[in-house]
Amino acid sequence: HNQPKLASNSYLEQSIPFRNRQQIGKENATLVMLVRNKELKGALQSMRSLEDRFNRHYRYPWVFLNEVPFDDEFIEQTTLMASGETFYELIPEEDWEQPSFIDEEKYENGIAKAIMDGVIYGGTKSYRNMCHFNSGYFYRQERMLNYDWYFRVEPDVEYMCDFQYDPFELLRRNNKIYGFVIAITEYENTIPTLWQTVEEFMAEYPELVHPNNSLDFITTHETSLNHWKSLVPSSTKYNLCHFWSNFEIANLNFFRSEAYGKYFDYLDKSGGFYYERWGDAPVHSIGLNILADKNSIHHFEDIGYYHAPYLACPTSKDVVASKRCVCKTYGVDGDRIDKPIDVGLFSCLSRWWKYGAGKSF
Ligand code: GDP
Ligand code: MN
Repeated sequence: HNQPKLASNSYLEQSIPFRNRQQIGKENATLVMLVRNKELKGALQSMRSLEDRFNRHYRYPWVFLNEVPFDDEFIEQTTLMASGETFYELIPEEDWEQPSFIDEEKYENGIAKAIMDGVIYGGTKSYRNMCHFNSGYFYRQERMLNYDWYFRVEPDVEYMCDFQYDPFELLRRNNKIYGFVIAITEYENTIPTLWQTVEEFMAEYPELVHPNNSLDFITTHETSLNHWKSLVPSSTKYNLCHFWSNFEIANLNFFRSEAYGKYFDYLDKSGGFYYERWGDAPVHSIGLNILADKNSIHHFEDIGYYHAPYLACPTSKDVVASKRCVCKTYGVDGDRIDKPIDVGLFSCLSRWWKYGAGKSF
């Protein structure tokens, strides 16, 4: 019943019943994509890449999430692109639209101000709903309750290397709950009051702050000179570093924990997802940096990944060769647009190497 109805004269009709979609990978895991019908082409491109580089050897299922029903074309094409089972889930309205405690007038003012300030995606309500959903709701959608692990995929991304192992299994065996590829700084004007809200949360729930947290990764230590040229010790200030959440391989039970739930609710109640334009990436990241053991966070240095405008690729020549990485990408006009991000200006990776988890396996 989750398989598409195909036009009766379609040759594709023949192929489906004979294709074995049985899962080979042993983990209780799924690939998941929040996506719009109009993004079908980009969704297929991402799927093609991830299937070829990883999933065809494991046939993990795909869960597609949308606040409107997927159309037949979307279902047909993505089902054929997947090696595993596919599920198409409608997000309940109350999980997508803004909560009832959001003040309409303040919301409208927030939108207007964000547009004035040139905030990226500042004028779009659907983008706010998306960030709010990805921050606090994707992991508790009914279908997702069946799984312990997810791999987040977005339309129009590309995986540059063969995986050659099951990343879910690697995380589980090494007691990791979260894996990322790119760490980068957030646009400050999207989150004017996020950090102060986080500090209030930590003051109210000190027992939830993990003793081996990675707060050092996201706060500045640098002292600065005041204008009398004397050193002022820095207060804790968010340095805008976060894991880029369009790529995530992680444990759903972390997000379903009481600690993360309290954290999300606290942020949500402040209204910042709507009065400002908080992204799900800093929200996920700060949650992990505060609530999780830093040794449970893994940097996948051997997974090449492209999401415009950044490309991350393994730096080791051996890895590039043995994993068949193709570390370039081209823009629509054929220009090379690869922007390696590893240690670039906006990258936080060297900071992660210094303050985050050491080599732990
Ligand atoms: P960016 O990566 O921050 O530039 O934002 P994207 O446009 O890639 O959106 C992030 C993810 O959310 C992608 O997987 C999109 O397909 C998805 N997305 C964004 N807006 C909507 C929406 O209104 N509805 C649905 N169903 N998905 C959305
Ligand atoms: Mn994107």
